[in-house]
Amino acid sequence: MAILIEKQAKRDAKTEKQARREQDDNIQGERCDDSPRKVEFCMECGAFNVVSAKKLPKDVDVKAVFACNELDLKEVKVYGFDYDYTLACYKPSMDYLLYNLGRQILIEQYKYPKPIGDLQYKPGFAIRGLHYDIQKGVLLKLDSFLQIQLGTVYRGLTSLSNEEVLNLYKNRIIPIAAVEYRHDTDHDGHSKMVQLADLFSVPEMCLLCNVTDYFERNHIDYHPEILFRDVKNSVRFSHPVMHKIVEQNVSEYIKYNPDLGRFFQRLVEADKKLFLVTNSPYRFVNIGMQMLIGKNWKDYFDVIIVQARKPKFFTDKSRPIRLFDEKSGTHVWDRVVKLEKGTIYYEGTVKQLQDMTNWRGHQVLYFGDHPYSDLADVTLEHGWRTGAIINELTHEIDTLNRTDFKRNANWLQMLTGLIEEHQDCEDVDERQVFTKWMQERDFLRNEIKYIFNEQFGSVFRTYHNPTYFSRRLFRFADIYTSNITNLLNYSVNHTFYPRRGVMPHEYISYFV
Ligand SMILES: [Mg+2]
Repeated sequence: MAILIEKQAKRDAKTEKQARREQDDNIQGERCDDSPRKVEFCMECGAFNVVSAKKLPKDVDVKAVFACNELDLKEVKVYGFDYDYTLACYKPSMDYLLYNLGRQILIEQYKYPKPIGDLQYKPGFAIRGLHYDIQKGVLLKLDSFLQIQLGTVYRGLTSLSNEEVLNLYKNRIIPIAAVEYRHDTDHDGHSKMVQLADLFSVPEMCLLCNVTDYFERNHIDYHPEILFRDVKNSVRFSHPVMHKIVEQNVSEYIKYNPDLGRFFQRLVEADKKLFLVTNSPYRFVNIGMQMLIGKNWKDYFDVIIVQARKPKFFTDKSRPIRLFDEKSGTHVWDRVVKLEKGTIYYEGTVKQLQDMTNWRGHQVLYFGDHPYSDLADVTLEHGWRTGAIINELTHEIDTLNRTDFKRNANWLQMLTGLIEEHQDCEDVDERQVFTKWMQERDFLRNEIKYIFNEQFGSVFRTYHNPTYFSRRLFRFADIYTSNITNLLNYSVNHTFYPRRGVMPHEYISYFV
């Protein structure tokens, strides 16, 4: 076995150097030096301490903009923006507020047991992009192949064992009909999954799990689908109250971004047109934008549309666009025949926006935080270019940059290679070592998962695949970044080029 291992290590070193040379400057890791690799065999864990001999990749820039698709900003004439979590990014106090308001409505309007009022918000419990099985009452994470990531299935606050998950689903792969469940179609016999894809749904997931846990602990019968609807409606109905509370103390809830005004100014100076399409009401947006940019914020925008009801704004054909009267705080019935700067509009459809402005196709770049309601239809139906603002990237990249993460991810990759190579060994001693490798691999896989989030791991990855959320994001977003003002790091004529990915049949890449 030892000889096999040394040979393998030499082969790895050779392949790695070759791969690095071939990948040239696209790879973030530094070139390997030519000295022989230090390979130590650890009798206790059956593993190799080769990690220290390997140079780790450079840190990823937390303020970078990442490309899924080539995007030339010179071609972009019009910049569109969503508001919540795109221009206005919220502090954790927003999660507590939505959770507490939803919990209150659940008790007062839906008559849930009063002790639920004692269940506190658990920051960091859930992540965006999880699926909730509304028939089985479990919250789980799926990968891009619709496979359940074992270890990320929760009923309430309790993790289900692998056996429980397999008993429940019979299979790790969920049928597509269950995942892309629509309310207007019949899917008898299938699970029904809903994805919680926006950041406002993170406190909603926590409330759902807390209440489920309460019912389970107290042996109270409940119907998972009804509980899901009640929690969802409670959080949704709490939004008008949330708006009023935030309006009274906006700096308590919105993170100040000193670069936002400069970002808009630069676009205006470059002769770009700007528009805002948000589902939020005018008063709420106005107070937030005044705090972020100043009283003159509207001067930057050529068109402002509030309460747009996305995604219907992008899919409906005939809902009229209306004028919004700032003084009375309501809409005016006058027919809108042209869109004027400085005027606030209400509802309408993207067709009217396009017809009245003649802004079309690839000359429009729209930024939003929701991969479906902000980005999917504008990409698929209207040919707009899209940018996703994913606030979680800050935490994800900070984690990727940790030395312990890099070491573990690196060693996991190498260990998996050794396991693949030596899986057919038959000698008793070799099998023992092999078993320890497998145990260490399981340990490492969990280590690099927990480091992102104890319950669900990374928003973007399951063990080795992209998550379902990532797949949709990469499908619908041309570029993505953690904050809109990260674009200030690039000129207004910049072209974003996607990285050439490595396919399974291609040469070995370094640190993929
Ligand atoms: Mg939003």
